[in-house]
Amino acid sequence: MIEVRFLVEAQREIFPLRGQAIINLQFSIIFFKISMEVMKIIVGPIRTNCYILKSGNELAVVDPGEETLLILDKIKDMRGILKYIINTHYHFDHTTANQEIKKATGAKILIHEKEKGYIDFPADIFLQDNEEIILGEEKILVRNFPGHSEGSICLFVEKIIFTGDLLFKDGYGRTDLVGGSEEDMFKSLDEIRKFLKPGVMVYPGHGDEFQI
Ligand SMILES: [Zn+2]
Ligand SMILES: [Zn+2]
Repeated sequence: MIEVRFLVEAQREIFPLRGQAIINLQFSIIFFKISMEVMKIIVGPIRTNCYILKSGNELAVVDPGEETLLILDKIKDMRGILKYIINTHYHFDHTTANQEIKKATGAKILIHEKEKGYIDFPADIFLQDNEEIILGEEKILVRNFPGHSEGSICLFVEKIIFTGDLLFKDGYGRTDLVGGSEEDMFKSLDEIRKFLKPGVMVYPGHGDEFQI
């Protein structure tokens, strides 16, 4: 199923396309305002949301959990230079394709510094809280929201938040995995709530995106 969406401020129109023989995969292209383009690809056995962001002629991929070739194909379709591979946290379902994508494109792998002790791949840049990643004409703000893992981050761009496994449409991420903390999770959920203003679009690590 392929779904193409054009999103302009608060107005949303959905144009479903049919006739594609792709099973179990779903793409959506979302144009938000004019400067940021987001493509979603669902990858791997636990259906992780991988996002490709584009601003100007620069691209970033968020959480390439699997499906290297498919992701590389989509990157090619989006016509730009892949600068960054950004992981919202260390779990394999968000990071497995990191190194192959890096090998193919030369992009840098970015993850929060608090995930350093948990990763089994070399990262190029360890992110800090409140750091900004420049992509084309956009600034992507990095904020650490521990709970699902110590160095879990959310990414803020204009009225979009990528929440990783912190916040989903119908709940929040588990806290029983290595580096997780229920206490931190509740603090983080309290904190993220402050950013969930009307009109904000949330793109989570699993499941559907949603608008506040
Ligand atoms: Zn996770
Ligand atoms: Zn996950």
